[in-house]
Amino acid sequence: MNSRRDFLQKLSIGIGAAALAPLSSSASLFPSFKKPGKKLRVALMGLGGYANIVARAMKECQLASLTGIVTGTSSKIAVWKSNYGIPDKNVYNYGNLHTIANNPDIDLVYITTPNSLHHKHVLQVAATGKHIICEKPVADNAQQAREMIAACKKAGVKFYVGYRLHFEPHTRELIRMRKAGEFGRIMHVNNYMGFKIGDPTQWRLKKALAGGGAMMDVGVYALNGARYATGEEPIWVTAQETKTDRVKFAEVDETVTFQLGFPSGVVASCGTTYNFNNYERLYLIGEKGFAELSPAFGYGPIGGKTHLGPMNQPLITHQAAQMDGLADCILNGTPDPDMTGEEALKDMIAIDAVYESLRKEGRKIYLDKK
Ligand code: NDP
Repeated sequence: MNSRRDFLQKLSIGIGAAALAPLSSSASLFPSFKKPGKKLRVALMGLGGYANIVARAMKECQLASLTGIVTGTSSKIAVWKSNYGIPDKNVYNYGNLHTIANNPDIDLVYITTPNSLHHKHVLQVAATGKHIICEKPVADNAQQAREMIAACKKAGVKFYVGYRLHFEPHTRELIRMRKAGEFGRIMHVNNYMGFKIGDPTQWRLKKALAGGGAMMDVGVYALNGARYATGEEPIWVTAQETKTDRVKFAEVDETVTFQLGFPSGVVASCGTTYNFNNYERLYLIGEKGFAELSPAFGYGPIGGKTHLGPMNQPLITHQAAQMDGLADCILNGTPDPDMTGEEALKDMIAIDAVYESLRKEGRKIYLDKK
């Protein structure tokens, strides 16, 4: 495995494996589902690798359905229309996106374009009055995230970020156990997520489209995981970068290690990379017990054990559970999971601090002043 494509294939294999294992339907995982007559109607925007995964997963959904697309590539339209039964009237491009406002067949736009376009696209979709899911990382920096939150508030629309693990059973069980005090006082967290990236010409290696490198793309999983492993918000950050290939990674970070200090005194020691594989784990150790998820952040199957033994949680298709779960929030008023724009802003504040620390040769950056 030596490229992003391999990584995505590996993740797809994960989905395949999950599909073979006994799958639980979203409805059994989330008893609050009321199965309303109405489904949440979704348009996907930016029909690349991840949009394809979400679209396939949505075939399993009970509360959400794919009814529209937004694409800048006309050659993709026929395939999507035929695969998902999208009618011509629900096909948009980036130029006529504003007219989606008048389309009663679309309730929500799911933005899966490159990172640095998220800010512009969220502002454009908010102006149409449609609800939004935007992929991670939510933006290039915290200031953009604040503007996106404000635009969605002003428009009165829901604004979620695709942190699909918040509907993943092992992750939810870990959070439940931590909240119930089953680990005792949390003493330490050690999370990492990365992969070896391939094609040197791809947008992920261009700062103007990616916003940053491994830290932005997958380091955000280790960071978000440290926040849900501790239940606390970081108060300081330190970071260090290793760059072994100054040509390929001329514009973005390659391998970053970073530390997050929390009010209780716990330190999360985290890492991320674009230059090696098999680097994916969440580990928390408390006074009374531990939890280890490995793999922890990909599409699955997620593996988990605690001091009590194997976690034995159901294997699910993450994207189907996410779409049903968020549809449940919008249609039934179920409380929002930690996937809101405000939650993503907390990650962006810490990511800004990681980059600031890197610029300042690892100096400790205090977040209470941000
Ligand atoms: P891709 O490059 O595969 O797809 C991005 C799509 O965005 C393109 O196919 C294109 O669709 C559209 N696009 C619009 N403008 C541009 C541009 N200037 N350059 C390139 N593409 C453009 O990326 P991914 O699908 O892998 O990633 C998209 C987003 O999803 C990223 O933010 C990424 O971080 C996130 N992601 C999240 C994952 C998760 O597990 N939550 C997993 C993978 C990605 P079109 O031709 O239709 O306009």
